[in-house]
Amino acid sequence: MTVDRSLVGNRSYWQETWDLNAPSVQLPARAAHVVVGGGIVGSATAYYLAKQGHDVVLIERMHPAHGATGRNGGFIGTGAAEGYNGSMQRLGKKAAQHIHELTLLNARLARELIASEGIDAHYREPGTLNLSISAQDHAEAAASIAARNADGYAGELLDRAALQSMVNTPLGEEIVGAAYFPGHALIHSGRLVRGIVDAAVRHGAKLCIATVERIEQRDGHPVVVTDKGTIQTQSVVLGLNAWSRQIAPALHGIITPVRGQILNTAPTKPVFAQGMGTDLTPTGEYWQQTLDGSIVLGGMRAAATNRDENLYDIGITDEVQNALDTVLPRLFPALQDLPITRRWAGLMGFTPDYVPVVDAMPDMPGVWAAGGFCGSGMPFGIMVGKYLAQAAVEMRTPAEVAPLGLNRPTLKK
Ligand SMILES: Cc1cc2nc3c(=O)[nH]c(=O)nc-3n(C[C@H](O)[C@H](O)[C@H](O)COP(=O)(O)OP(=O)(O)OC[C@H]3O[C@@H](n4cnc5c(N)ncnc54)[C@H](O)[C@@H]3O)c2cc1C
Repeated sequence: MTVDRSLVGNRSYWQETWDLNAPSVQLPARAAHVVVGGGIVGSATAYYLAKQGHDVVLIERMHPAHGATGRNGGFIGTGAAEGYNGSMQRLGKKAAQHIHELTLLNARLARELIASEGIDAHYREPGTLNLSISAQDHAEAAASIAARNADGYAGELLDRAALQSMVNTPLGEEIVGAAYFPGHALIHSGRLVRGIVDAAVRHGAKLCIATVERIEQRDGHPVVVTDKGTIQTQSVVLGLNAWSRQIAPALHGIITPVRGQILNTAPTKPVFAQGMGTDLTPTGEYWQQTLDGSIVLGGMRAAATNRDENLYDIGITDEVQNALDTVLPRLFPALQDLPITRRWAGLMGFTPDYVPVVDAMPDMPGVWAAGGFCGSGMPFGIMVGKYLAQAAVEMRTPAEVAPLGLNRPTLKK
């Protein structure tokens, strides 16, 4: 079925329900630090630099939250994209725990930043529920929760009755139970990023709307070349995620763009207090009910023949959007025919080992980059911004983010 493209416009719920055109200034000729990309990573990096009194320019080509951060599901969870057990198996216990701790730090920093800067980001911590839709799913959820609990991390296995008591609509027959992760947060992504950018500007950062074309080296320092002129600086932080390899060639083959698609229903009665997820397909599905009652639901990449991998196109497609239409009616018999009000897509960055990259760029002195969050960047973004601000000032990569470095053994080109 062809989806109704009059609903599209390719702007997300978060972008349509908040003004993201933060005041900007002309590109200066010089700045101590330049941050590129107005998503969660770039805005947080500029914020921490400005808050510590450093001279920083944040360059974004469209408006804050134009990229993945403004098009996502609005979850701030903890842990790496593959989950606790998956990360342990791939990375080993030490690295998996280290990365998990980084995401717990991110959760604390997000809470602090939002509170201290008074950002009305619709931030709440209801937790997330990951539905098991088969006995095998539930056994895997049990093993993952047991591994988390053994290492002192929160998580609870819920049977069907316990799950039903938390969801305000009858569960479909195939739902067996859920893994519950208390403390995971939900936010309005547009309000969050605009709030961080505004806070950065209050602390002295400058926002410039320009497209970065390349980074050159002059007299041992980076020069950022944009469509609005050049800017000389001591350090550059790239928060470009899916677009990283366009400016940092070393990230070719390491960060690959992958399209994620979402739909948004009209407001309905309160049904889901928690962030919700399940694996109807191997690439996963997720949804949250926003404070106005509408449901933001994404996933179903597996419905696309190429899984929407290795492209820069952010148009929606019938195959994935039609598949998204089936998720709520399949899982919750009472939720048939909710009117769809928006459909959109965004670009994620994926790495071969499902762990993000945060490191100095080889052959680009004074340049750091972060990206490759594999569809789960909100558990990292603010913490990464803090450490990248430190890197820019100290001109070396903080040891704390070593497990996210380019030299890690699991990252092979
Ligand atoms: C559909 C979808 C759903 C998702 N859901 C979730 C979720 O619920 N929870 C979660 O944790 N993660 C989720 N993610 C992933 C998460 O949104 C990303 O990992 C995270 O937002 C990445 O943030 P970022 O700041 O690195 O990049 P982005 O937010 O993509 O920001 C990059 C910015 O760089 C700008 N830019 C690009 N090129 C240039 C240039 N040459 N010059 C200047 N500016 C440039 C872009 O306009 C953009 O604003 C989702 C992603 C998608 C696409």
